[in-house]
Amino acid sequence: MYVTHDPSTGRTDREYEQTEDVDAILSTVTEGFTAWRATEVSERARILLAIADAFEEHQEELGKAITTEMGKLPAQARGEVALAASIYRWYGEHGPALLESDTLDVPDARLNRVTYEPVGPLVGIMPWNYPYYQVARFAAPNLLLGNTIVLKHASICARSSAAIEKVQRGAGLPEDAYVNVYASSDTVAEMIADPRIKGVSLTGSEGAGAAVATVAAKNLKPSVLELGGSDPLVVLDADDLDELVETVGRARLSNCGQACNSPKRIFVPAQMKDDFVGRLKNLYEELAVGPAADEGTELGPLSSEDARDGVVEQVQRAAEQGATLVTGGAAIDRPGAFMQPAVLTDITPEMDAYREEIFGPVAMVYGYDSVDEAVRIANDTPFGLSGSVWGTDVDRASEVAERLEVGMAYVNEHGTTMPGLPFGGVKRSGYGRELGRWGLTEFANVRLQRVH
Ligand code: NDP
Repeated sequence: MYVTHDPSTGRTDREYEQTEDVDAILSTVTEGFTAWRATEVSERARILLAIADAFEEHQEELGKAITTEMGKLPAQARGEVALAASIYRWYGEHGPALLESDTLDVPDARLNRVTYEPVGPLVGIMPWNYPYYQVARFAAPNLLLGNTIVLKHASICARSSAAIEKVQRGAGLPEDAYVNVYASSDTVAEMIADPRIKGVSLTGSEGAGAAVATVAAKNLKPSVLELGGSDPLVVLDADDLDELVETVGRARLSNCGQACNSPKRIFVPAQMKDDFVGRLKNLYEELAVGPAADEGTELGPLSSEDARDGVVEQVQRAAEQGATLVTGGAAIDRPGAFMQPAVLTDITPEMDAYREEIFGPVAMVYGYDSVDEAVRIANDTPFGLSGSVWGTDVDRASEVAERLEVGMAYVNEHGTTMPGLPFGGVKRSGYGRELGRWGLTEFANVRLQRVH
């Protein structure tokens, strides 16, 4: 049973029956694949553009669904719907040209042609933190390519996952090209192992990623994993410290800190640390924390009380192990999944917080004596999703950013995601790339035809 709760109130919203009929679901998307791959790419692109329009048309109600379901503030929820729409639109507009065949100039043959062909039905397993955006990253390129999809969303997102399917069908996507399922992990494993499924993409925790990738590997299926991160944000200097703290401090709290690529570890020069931390403390103590839908709320609840309890426990453990808890970090005594935003400093390699991801409203601030030290600690993490360097000298900041062991490095911004830019990480942040032209070939048969 999937059960949705409103994390702003703690009240149960709805219960949903699970579907365990693997055979029926896989027959549907397998038959669907035969028809979908046979459509012209221009027709698939037209449907993606219609899906983009439909997301924009239903922006308000789709936004409300995730505000209720996982506690996203309304403006951020509407922003996410618009971002998802932009991804469907980008693939609708640019995808067909990217899928055109290439003729290679290689000797000793009349023809060396490479085409990009779909591989078949795929399973997508998606998390609750960006319910529309995460699905769009996987679904838009693969639908354009001609693959079909079984989508298993996070169980707390049962409402928004059904809404995605409805919007897509309303825009003309055939029912057998994309099927939303409410299924247990065992059922999902059975699907991945079934010969009809040709690949799997998961965004979520390392544990779920490892479990899914194991089943995929055992059955010789490709997988894409987008997992956690503990992104470094390195400050070299700043013209205006107040503005920097405002920008960086709020960026860390976007989506209540529950983003894989949130700037979780902030590095500032040692001489700037006290001023930076003092201002960040003031900012976090003055924030309006409250129900997500309330006007004026600046920090809503976490996605669930379990998630909140986990983050509170991590902060407590950091303090017990000797980190300085500058402010916040406790659960707020009211119904719902609220906690005080926290600032931690003086984190050393012996502490769990040094290497763990903290998936909530907690900024970890490090003071550094040299840029080499900042880069060394920034890279001394199991993760490698994204990272950023901020400074008044853009060339110098770019040079430092080159040294970050990440999939996405930024200068004077952090974590920008756009449809045409690749998204993905290295190390324990996962493998494979989504978005842009790279997202089109993860599950493509890059097929050579050579005529001698
Ligand atoms: P999970 O990884 O458990 O959930 C993500 C998705 O994977 C959900 O659809 C979940 O289903 C599914 N799932 C979980 N285990 C399995 C399995 N064995 N086989 C198949 N599917 C599975 O994330 P949590 O919600 O537990 O979050 C915990 C941590 O994950 C966070 O603290 C954070 O570190 C990380 N995370 C990272 C995200 C990112 O954007 N990279 C997003 C969300 C979480 P169900 O909901 O039914 O359990």
